[in-house]
Amino acid sequence: TWTADAGWAGRPRVLPFGDLPFSPAMAGLHYGQVVFEGLKAYRRRDGALGTFRPDAHARRFQQSARRLAMPELPEELFLEAVDAFVARDGGLLPADDPRLSLYLRPILFASEASLALRPAREYTFLLMGFVTEGFFSDRPDPVSVLVSREFSRAAPGGTGQAKCAGNYAGAFLAQRQAADAGCRQVVWLDPVERRWIEEMGGMNLFFVRGSGPSAEVLTPPLTGTLLPGITRDSLLTLAAELGYTTREERISVDQWREESESGLITEAFACGTAALVTPIGEVRDGDGGWLVGDGKAGPLAMELRTALTDLHQGRVDDAHSWLRWATTE
Ligand code: PMP
Repeated sequence: TWTADAGWAGRPRVLPFGDLPFSPAMAGLHYGQVVFEGLKAYRRRDGALGTFRPDAHARRFQQSARRLAMPELPEELFLEAVDAFVARDGGLLPADDPRLSLYLRPILFASEASLALRPAREYTFLLMGFVTEGFFSDRPDPVSVLVSREFSRAAPGGTGQAKCAGNYAGAFLAQRQAADAGCRQVVWLDPVERRWIEEMGGMNLFFVRGSGPSAEVLTPPLTGTLLPGITRDSLLTLAAELGYTTREERISVDQWREESESGLITEAFACGTAALVTPIGEVRDGDGGWLVGDGKAGPLAMELRTALTDLHQGRVDDAHSWLRWATTE
């Protein structure tokens, strides 16, 4: 917990999973002062558990907290909590199923019992973990997506860049529309001109222009209304190391359609901690739609997916020290 008078108190402790007692007047519940992270630990063949880029997640957690006028959890406390959890409960992750990972969900919320409309004076930090089979991760089949023309995920000057609870609540209605249209995900457009592609519900987006070794790997720039994904950042690095030209470039929804139809854009894929790399096969926009490439998983998406998962599972050299290793108790 953090209190305005005393700052952070105590070291992280591992408790059994269970309910927590909070006041019905808890500020976070009413006013949405809640930020969180999602990161994963993977098991290497020799049994060691590696958490992927926890330092980057700790820093994004701080940036999210700052935007919501919340105290920033010191990076070393974040890492200590991750280490304590992985050491104690990482053993729950079986060694023989590479599809499974340990998903860690740190959350910081305003726990003060107060209805005052101001930043709370008391916060609680929790980290919980789940053994999961990644969202899509057993099935890198292409997904179909719906461009949301009606709703925005973020506003200029808003909280789109932060990983805070409210950003997701505003997206559920669009997500339901996507599901009704037979699509798995919503593609969000920029909230100003409403034509530039930004991101998806829990994933950043990439486009491939051209093919073969001269293919360009493109992703929308961080405009302030989309989340700076850690997988996005990792893939920009990995794609450059594989010899591809990478670029942050704005792509409009019309351009996506035209360049897909003319064959210039050959692939599109989504990426995130949960989604890894997931190819996009088909786009729906109003009454129309188009195929990306031939509608199947493209070679570059699969190459990057393999590069990322090889790294996660310790099959290749971790040149950037992205994994934090722990041995379980
Ligand atoms: N955008 C949004 C809105 C997200 O919630 C996520 C998942 N954290 C991402 C993108 C992908 O980010 P990351 O690669 O850090 O998981």
